Amino acid sequence: MPRQSATVFVVDEDRCFGCAACVALCPVNALVLEGLLVIVDEPSCTHCEHCIPACPVHALSLEDEEKAIPLGVLA
Ligand code: SF4
Ligand code: SF4
Repeated sequence: MPRQSATVFVVDEDRCFGCAACVALCPVNALVLEGLLVIVDEPSCTHCEHCIPACPVHALSLEDEEKAIPLGVLA
């Protein structure tokens, strides 16, 4: 699946507790556990959405780029 334009994959840092359930599911290894937080290498993410349902606290999502930028996720 091609990356969706004007969309970014984001990890909600307030929700993620580092269970790592999502990490092994990513076919391109875009998710890395750092302590108790998953970090996404967003340019590597294909927006395939495989990992999103695996998160027990719904910390993973694809967001409209215009909404994500004011939240600072691309800073
Ligand atoms: S959406 Fe797909 S490519 Fe992106 S982090 Fe999740 S599993 Fe990996
Ligand atoms: S599945 Fe959710 S809570 Fe677990 S490491 Fe991934 S983003 Fe964090």
